Amino acid sequence: MNNSDKKTIYVDNAATTAMSKTAINAMLPYLDGVYGNPSSLHSAGQAAKDALEGFRARIAARLNAEAGEIYFTSGGSESDNQAIRSAAVNGAKRGKKHIVTTAFEHHAVLHTLKKLEREGYEVTYLDVHGNGIVTAEQVASAVRDDTALVTVMFANNEIGTVQPIAEIGAVCREKKIVFHTDAVQAVGHVPVDVKAMNIDMLSLSAHKFHGAKGAGALYVRRGVPINTFIDGGAQEKGRRAGTENLAGIAAMAAALDEACDNMQSTAKRERALCDTLIKGLSEIPHSKLNGDRERRLPGIVNMCFEGIEGEGLLLYLDDMGICASSGSACTSGSLDPSHVLLALGLPHEVAHGSLRLSLSEATSDADVDEILKAVPQVVKKLRDMSPVWEALEKGEKEHLI
Ligand SMILES: *Cc1c(COP(=O)(O)O)cnc(C)c1O
Repeated sequence: MNNSDKKTIYVDNAATTAMSKTAINAMLPYLDGVYGNPSSLHSAGQAAKDALEGFRARIAARLNAEAGEIYFTSGGSESDNQAIRSAAVNGAKRGKKHIVTTAFEHHAVLHTLKKLEREGYEVTYLDVHGNGIVTAEQVASAVRDDTALVTVMFANNEIGTVQPIAEIGAVCREKKIVFHTDAVQAVGHVPVDVKAMNIDMLSLSAHKFHGAKGAGALYVRRGVPINTFIDGGAQEKGRRAGTENLAGIAAMAAALDEACDNMQSTAKRERALCDTLIKGLSEIPHSKLNGDRERRLPGIVNMCFEGIEGEGLLLYLDDMGICASSGSACTSGSLDPSHVLLALGLPHEVAHGSLRLSLSEATSDADVDEILKAVPQVVKKLRDMSPVWEALEKGEKEHLI
């Protein structure tokens, strides 16, 4: 569908990122050269093992964790599943079967919790208000004597709002409740310090910060019990069987180092570009920025436009060489509005007309100009074809935004 004579503007970095050259180069020696199995006792295996432990230490250092607290997984979904299910099962052993979360978590968290509910656990879903932020006070009043786990995402993948993780961590530590955070959108983008923030378990995924797909990690604070999710060999201290994805882990360590070294300058650039986008797109009548204006990731903008369908907007934008999203890649394909936007309290009709633009350091001023030309044109075109918009314009229906 793309015009081949036009460069693609990729603004869907919350779905996945392009690998950085640094990450690709870091991966190559482990695809062609160091191919031993880290569990083998011979020298080829030990070379792989040494490399693996080096990457573990580097990734741990970037989170202010210890190497022994990092377990490699296949990505964010697996880390979320293992963390939540472990904390639930270990809590249940002590008679604690209550879990606190928010209504706008990633589906890797929400679907795991839904399953646990069917198995007899009780889950409290905290309201995220109109601004997409949950407060530590809400967490403090939701936890009970039988709460086994609090799981609150660090930054939301659809609207980019950043949660008060350190404050929530302090509440959980004081009450001795395990605190997990899905930090997949945060790691490599904003500062993360598991000690200062009192985080017990944290999920991360390499392909959200220019590493390779299929590599991720779960941080588990020393002393917090973690159960095996994939049974088999004794890899990862017996907590996650399977021969390690050494090339993917090499790329993850390099991508994380690069992202953290450049974090401030990248954030500054992205924030400026997002400010321009928010300002420009807000000029479209009956539009709305979703999520808190200030407490957000530097690179994600999510807007709603009344009277249109987000899917139509995406397809026209794609035709113009702009790859964007209406929200989460995991829900696109279904015509239900985003659970995140509904959790903010948006009416269904408004939530349907959403657009998420997620930037990277590669996004240019020219890209932003192009987007600011394209989106108003497409919104107008869709509104001109929309019976809902016609009714709104005639005053037969009331504007909701
Ligand atoms: C992408 C994402 C995930 C899933 O990570 P995978 O590595 O793709 O399994 C989980 N949580 C959030 C917030 C995400 O953005």
